Amino acid sequence: MTNEKLQKETLYIHKGYHSNLHHGSLTVPLYQTSTFAFETAEQGARRFEGEEAGGIYSRLGNPTVHVLEERMAALEYGEGALAFGSGMAAVSTILVHLTKAGDHILCTRGIYGCTFGLLNILKEKYNITHDLSLLASEEAIEAAIKPNTTCIYIETPINPTMEIVDIEMITKVAKKHGIPVVVDNTFSSPYLQNPLQLGADFVLHSATKYINGHGDVIAGILVGKQNEEIEAIRMSIQKDYGGIISPFDAWLLIRGLKTLHVRMDRHTQNAEEILSFLKTCDLVENIYYPYDDQNPQFEIAKKQMKAGGGLISFTVKGGIKSAQKLMNELKLIKIAVSLGDAETLIQHPATMTHSVVPEKERMEMGITDGLLRLSVGLENSTDLIEDLQSAFSKLKS
Ligand SMILES: *Cc1c(COP(=O)(O)O)cnc(C)c1O
Repeated sequence: MTNEKLQKETLYIHKGYHSNLHHGSLTVPLYQTSTFAFETAEQGARRFEGEEAGGIYSRLGNPTVHVLEERMAALEYGEGALAFGSGMAAVSTILVHLTKAGDHILCTRGIYGCTFGLLNILKEKYNITHDLSLLASEEAIEAAIKPNTTCIYIETPINPTMEIVDIEMITKVAKKHGIPVVVDNTFSSPYLQNPLQLGADFVLHSATKYINGHGDVIAGILVGKQNEEIEAIRMSIQKDYGGIISPFDAWLLIRGLKTLHVRMDRHTQNAEEILSFLKTCDLVENIYYPYDDQNPQFEIAKKQMKAGGGLISFTVKGGIKSAQKLMNELKLIKIAVSLGDAETLIQHPATMTHSVVPEKERMEMGITDGLLRLSVGLENSTDLIEDLQSAFSKLKS
């Protein structure tokens, strides 16, 4: 059975599952059920009272989902986890949990587009305000905290410019003020970065990306330092807002997680090879990758990330025209948003993921018209580089 001493790669495959309790089934069974039958009326009453463990109704808990949650809690070094039907359901649940009308949320300057959309809904409906800040020094964080700040919400690396924020520094300042810190860890996956170990209180993932890794599920995960708080969220906001995951999608995530470490190593290796190639391209202006020795934030990246991961952004000379032509000339690499899949994907943030950001802010964030983001997949890197090389050669002609 599983114990605390096992290494994380082993936990990805075994944590939270006991085959002897499931007819010896090697893999986690799929409990595709909406509800659970009670033996007696009294047993049903005991389950509702919380006096007896066991199923009631799948919005309140499901055995397949539970394995995923227990595994994710272990992988992020938390006590408890909740699985959701999308990354955004995890984001909205934690923000609703940590705020009330009139509060303030402090965020990193770059955050996921729909998270930004959600912050605007909270502002319009409940006067929950927010600030986007660089959070680049202790003084800057102190200055950005307001008397009504009840949550610090960060993403690192920041999409799509790969800026790194120092998780440990932020949590240190937040602790002085008693403000909980939430980290969206989607870009790194639990294999490359573990924010709870750096002092954060909650970590969340769009499990749609690296955790599933196969491009066939939309899902989210929230992990908390304290199980009591996670269980309170389960039986309130998650239960009553209802953003739960389906048992089948949880089952697919359990399957995806088994290879997370193997995939992340190869994503990283391929990205590093593409990084070296891009450095030789005279049509490439800037390259953004956490583990690039030219990156001024390389030291912070090394401190908190095990490796650079599979995302790499770069700007091409010639702005939007060149960027779009390059994408159109690619044969193997797919034009698509999302990330973390086996297939290499390329997208143009200015007209796709960040098209809703006003131009001035977009430029301030470094999202220029020539910027492209690659989610490097698991193909043979020589084939990927040849695809890029051939597309670049067409730009010149
Ligand atoms: C995709 C993504 C989300 C949203 O997740 P969904 O699963 O699409 O709801 C949130 N944060 C980041 C960083 C993402 O990449």
